[in-house]
Amino acid sequence: TEACLAEIEGAGALNAFVHHTPEIALEHAKAADERIAGGDAPAMCGMPLGIKDLFCTRGVPSQAASHILNGFRPEYESTVTQNLWDAGAVMLGKLNMDEFAMGSSNETSTYGNAVNPWRRGNDDAQLTPGGSSGGSAAAVAADLCLAATGTDTGGSIRQPAAFTGIVGLKPTYGRCSRWGVVAFASSLDQAGPMTKTVRDAAIMLGAMAGHDPKDSTSADLAVPDFEAAITGDIRGKKIGIPKEYRMEGMPAEIEKLWADGADMLRDAGAEIVDISLPHTKYALPAYYVIAPAEASSNLARYDGVRYGHRAKLAQGDGIVQMYEKTRAEGFGPEVQRRVMIGTYVLSAGFYDAYYNRARKVRTLIKRDFETVFADGIDAILTPATPSAAFGLGEMAEADPVQMYLNDVFTVTVNLAGLPGIAVPAGLDGQGLPLGLQLIGRPWEEGDLLNTAEVME
Ligand code: GLN
Repeated sequence: TEACLAEIEGAGALNAFVHHTPEIALEHAKAADERIAGGDAPAMCGMPLGIKDLFCTRGVPSQAASHILNGFRPEYESTVTQNLWDAGAVMLGKLNMDEFAMGSSNETSTYGNAVNPWRRGNDDAQLTPGGSSGGSAAAVAADLCLAATGTDTGGSIRQPAAFTGIVGLKPTYGRCSRWGVVAFASSLDQAGPMTKTVRDAAIMLGAMAGHDPKDSTSADLAVPDFEAAITGDIRGKKIGIPKEYRMEGMPAEIEKLWADGADMLRDAGAEIVDISLPHTKYALPAYYVIAPAEASSNLARYDGVRYGHRAKLAQGDGIVQMYEKTRAEGFGPEVQRRVMIGTYVLSAGFYDAYYNRARKVRTLIKRDFETVFADGIDAILTPATPSAAFGLGEMAEADPVQMYLNDVFTVTVNLAGLPGIAVPAGLDGQGLPLGLQLIGRPWEEGDLLNTAEVME
């Protein structure tokens, strides 16, 4: 813990941690020492972690990297973080992210972006750590903590993991409680571990997961021993390669990475099968209707009355002006864009044309996966991202749709509620990490982790 605190002190330029909590860290570490001395040492005992700013942590600023939550210190602890503390983990502080988890580059944060510790060849240009869990990814990759929590609504654990050469797991929807995690799109949001190794992800997921009566969508299922599922034996497993993920204009490097990953699994005794997920091309548009729709509803609570920032009012302003000014000042441009898209697609005149249509497409996407799993496929291998980490400012200046295209390989998993993991798979020509994604059957994270470990 002390070594991590010292690393964090020296790594201000990465802007990964946005609040340090050294007093809590040392208190947790001391308690962990006592548990270990007493012979009660669960696997997470004494492990120093960073926590994404989207998780409510009691008495500690929890702002979802938004100006509108300025000064908000929750009186309660999210279930996932409480589970981690109960398992003996140590809290180092809160990690940078895109505002309300909306983004793919960490550039929408009110704290300014986190920076990727990797560089392109000899080029000094700063790269994005990805988003929205960019601070988590940068912190793990730069050894500021042993692991971090992330959340994933459309790829926000897996894309930053791929951009920084670490492991990121989005569990099955319902595996981890969403209670106390600031809501973005409630039917898609899931918390998960971001770690250095697949085994660490298995151990950390075991501590995070579990049924929670406070989240009605959390599954009432026992948490299996995910670490015990890692046996190194994947003989006879059927791995699907979906042809629809072979996007037009895919860089040769990504094609090769994907083929090499398939070879690695084949060499370990798996059977590689070509499969089809025919509705893949509709996933991104469906996601960018459903996620903003849910966000516009979830974010209605930030009105200047209950939490955080309230605008200064002029003589004669009433409550409506208070709402308007607070929200105009408190939300950044990307959040405002999502709220506008969301309210538009939910409005009476357009509901059927957009929101209802997107929900139907979502069902078709889910059925595509159900069909291949019913045919005996155990896991699906795809690239995690369409490219390696890009330069800061590069995409933010382009049209927002360019940024949204980053999620092309990850959003299907959230729409279908499946588990997905990004694993480091090598370096590109300029020495930057690239990741592959494995998508698993619902509730079979153990099997997924076992396959992922073979690729490590
Ligand atoms: N990049 C996606 C978005 O901006 C995904 C974000 C996430 O998973 N939280 O919506």
